[in-house]
Amino acid sequence: MEKKLILDGNVVANAVKESLKDRIKVLNENGIKPCLATILVGDDPSSETYVKMKGNACSRLGIESKRIHLSKDTTTEELLQVIQELNEDENVHGILLQHPVPHQVDERKAFETISLEKDVDGVTSWGYGQTALGFGVFPSCTPAAILKIMEHYQITAKGKHAVVVGRSPILGKPVSAMLLNENATVTTCHSHTTNLPEMLKQADIVVAAVGKPNFIQGDWLKEGVVVLDAGYNPGNIGDVEYDSCYEKASAITPVPGGVGPVTISMLLKHTVDSAEYTMKKSNKIIH
Ligand code: NAP
Repeated sequence: MEKKLILDGNVVANAVKESLKDRIKVLNENGIKPCLATILVGDDPSSETYVKMKGNACSRLGIESKRIHLSKDTTTEELLQVIQELNEDENVHGILLQHPVPHQVDERKAFETISLEKDVDGVTSWGYGQTALGFGVFPSCTPAAILKIMEHYQITAKGKHAVVVGRSPILGKPVSAMLLNENATVTTCHSHTTNLPEMLKQADIVVAAVGKPNFIQGDWLKEGVVVLDAGYNPGNIGDVEYDSCYEKASAITPVPGGVGPVTISMLLKHTVDSAEYTMKKSNKIIH
């Protein structure tokens, strides 16, 4: 029997973080401390945990994090004001607004207020458009993580049929566009797709981005498929039913320890990229 490949996100994330260390050192020597600003609105415990994890990952690597926690009653206008201030703060290189925000806040409007050069989480429509056209600087972090895992394990998309389940603006849509740019043939499925198991049966690569625990079943997949599970549901459960999908797959990401840690490392990378860009712009550094 052929050996299965477990796509270990911690290995990939550590490689990404390792590659940033020298770059951060050069930035520091030039008087620049890369800084990620995170904005959390409200008291959702999962969101608090995610923001804390991102802040801790920054400090472990020597990236500053500026944590802004706004009350659950924050209005759209108040949030936009905070984002504008961060846009203008030259010591801040990346801005992350934790999704979701409370219902009274216009999340799309808030995302669109983040300046393109600080949109390290790839949430603006400008960033998405550029990513889709193939020249985006900061694609959304989870799609970027999926592509990074494939690159690390030398899984090529070219000529393959990739089926993406989910079409959210920060995950399903951009990862579909990125796989298309890598010359995969891409099918994007969603809640109105009527024949999902049939679609999945044709897939060489499956990206699960549904937000439903254990949703994708092994008997929907063909032998030898590559399974990339972006799902992260309460209790550390992915969007694929791991045991049955493992049986069919030639390679699979576990949950936890798959896409999640790489997503955070891509956020750090984008923050460092942005800090370097700022320095180059101000001619403080020449590469
Ligand atoms: P989302 O905004 O809720 O989108 C879910 C998508 O799944 C939608 O496009 C929806 O279709 C589709 N869908 C729902 N039910 C379906 C069904 N029965 N058949 C086919 N498609 C269906 O979720 P998201 O923000 O993209 O997140 C997706 C998952 O990824 C979640 O588990 C989330 O926790 C995880 N995630 C992980 C990371 C990470 O770092 N690992 C980061 C972000 C998100 P419609 O468009 O038709 O509604």
